[in-house]
Amino acid sequence: MAWNHTRQIGEVKVTSLTDASFGLDGGAMFGSVPKALWERVAPADEQNRIALRINPLLIQLGEENILIETGFWDRGGEKFESIYGLDRDETVFRGLQNVGLTPDDIHLVINTHLHFDHAGRNTTALNEPTFPNARYAVQKRELDDARHTHERSRASYVPDTFEPIADAGLFDLIDGEHELRPGLSVLPLPGHNLGQQGVVLRSGGQTLVYVADLIPTLAHTPLPYIMGYDLYPVTTLETRKTYLPQWFEQNAVICTPHDPRTPFARLQENPKGGFVAVPDEGEPQK
Ligand SMILES: [Zn+2]
Repeated sequence: MAWNHTRQIGEVKVTSLTDASFGLDGGAMFGSVPKALWERVAPADEQNRIALRINPLLIQLGEENILIETGFWDRGGEKFESIYGLDRDETVFRGLQNVGLTPDDIHLVINTHLHFDHAGRNTTALNEPTFPNARYAVQKRELDDARHTHERSRASYVPDTFEPIADAGLFDLIDGEHELRPGLSVLPLPGHNLGQQGVVLRSGGQTLVYVADLIPTLAHTPLPYIMGYDLYPVTTLETRKTYLPQWFEQNAVICTPHDPRTPFARLQENPKGGFVAVPDEGEPQK
């Protein structure tokens, strides 16, 4: 059965897609949280990897098809694929096909950031834009940082996934919070790195937030459950403390990029402090 899950946010149809399932070291994914705690919510395999996906989101707003995240880079070779335990049974292309779309039908791509597991399918094997009729929206800061990496950030970026987009003049470089379309905004969510942005959709009194790697899976909702991969973990904590109470107040639908099971969730207050995320049923696609 296809992953695709679709639902309405006010007047707008949104569809959760998936591009690959993969695994990453559970210790790295939960930072300073002891395994005795995290393995209750995210069991590890024999290589200590936990199950993840990359879940792009399709937003059909007016006449436009808008895609958040393009998918997991697919040109790393056999060893790369096996390190990440990549399973590509489902792809963003198949997900689009299931709703009657091709890459040519995408008008706008939103890159939350340019890491290869999120922006990996920005370009094709020929190093051409995968979505040739789309603008690609990214924070200017993120493109700058992707081009000026250091030893800690370098492994996350593949220039072939963003330089051809820049060469083709398809990037819209955003500086901070910005309304891309009526009801559709991007919002800086620093911590994982400094150029990451989330996406906020408002329609008919409802709100959806694509939280990017601020909360990579639902299991990461507790405030201190912060990835070891984050370049600025205390900034992640501050960003969470700023926005989670607001998203809870707005009863926002939360979409995480990497949850292996749940496309849509909502926040509930944790009596011990902070929040937990609970699945919020979308209607499965036929
Ligand atoms: Zn990620």
